[in-house]
Amino acid sequence: MSLEVYPIRARASICDASAIAAVILALALLLGPIRAMAFGAQGHEVVGAIADRLLNPHASRQVAHLLGMSLQAAAPWADCVKDVRLDAGEFRYMPESHRQRACRVFETPAGIARMEDYVRRNWSACAAPGGHASACHKAYHYADVAIQRSRYDRADVGTSDHDIVSALRAAIDVLRGRPAPAPFSIKDRSEALLMLAHFVGDVHQPLHVGAIYLDADGRPVDPDAGAQTAHPAGSTGTRGGNAIDAGSTDLHAQWDQLPTSLRPSSVSASMLAAARAVPTSPGDVGAWPAEWASETLLAARAAYAGIAFEPQSSVTGHWTARFDDADAYHLSRRRLQTEQLTRAGARLAQVLKAVWP
Ligand SMILES: [Zn+2]
Repeated sequence: MSLEVYPIRARASICDASAIAAVILALALLLGPIRAMAFGAQGHEVVGAIADRLLNPHASRQVAHLLGMSLQAAAPWADCVKDVRLDAGEFRYMPESHRQRACRVFETPAGIARMEDYVRRNWSACAAPGGHASACHKAYHYADVAIQRSRYDRADVGTSDHDIVSALRAAIDVLRGRPAPAPFSIKDRSEALLMLAHFVGDVHQPLHVGAIYLDADGRPVDPDAGAQTAHPAGSTGTRGGNAIDAGSTDLHAQWDQLPTSLRPSSVSASMLAAARAVPTSPGDVGAWPAEWASETLLAARAAYAGIAFEPQSSVTGHWTARFDDADAYHLSRRRLQTEQLTRAGARLAQVLKAVWP
């Protein structure tokens, strides 16, 4: 989904102003695949910090051996690699300042070489047959399942063989000593663990799994409902809320922001107790990511409840959110964020304990 080029609607430019608007829209659409970091580094660190405390001795030893650092420090890695860019035919790590603090731990010569190598190997293999793709690894962080669905199902719009669930399965495969399925290239168990530590967080961010699809008038549509030609997913997709303006920011960014009180250094005893009480998913560990995504999809319904949408802007291609009760919405968002981070921390530990009992 992230790699699609959002179609630019045909529109007649009858004056300079509309021509300029068309150029701005085209630029906005070209920038479409860019998506914000889920939870930000702070959220991923909280997930890792919870998991660090819930591991058994065997899994703790394996984490220390494979990473040489805690899960808390390792969890932001898959966002840090987004600063590896293709520059004159070379993959180079060129960090942006806003990611710098959490990424510094990876900025050793060997760490930079690993990030550049990972991006090189996970750049274009997700292309459809005969097609072209770039930065495939950025699509590993999410799915865009319509909130009308009740489960994650690979047959539905917004899923792919390189979405968040597929990425988690691939990382778990490699940790269990199996080869990574295409299109993933996972060099070793250390890399698989770096991916897992991050993507378990992402799959619990509601807007990284569940998506609302809107028509030009801001009315929800169902991209799986058969009328694909009337509602092609590409033109109705809201890119995880990145294309929904909400006050001074967008809806996705609102869900990435955490209260300053929720830091890895201040994970509360009650949060840890709640994490210990999260039941282990049934069945084989390889099936767990789809179960988590199905649960997060229901959380996404809550995230999109209490919002109406204004018609799509012809300038930015964005919709604007109107909250029924903004204060109540932000309160419930904070509660849901805390619950989801707790679940993510618990489940990261559960996977690692299943792999290393
Ligand atoms: Zn991510």
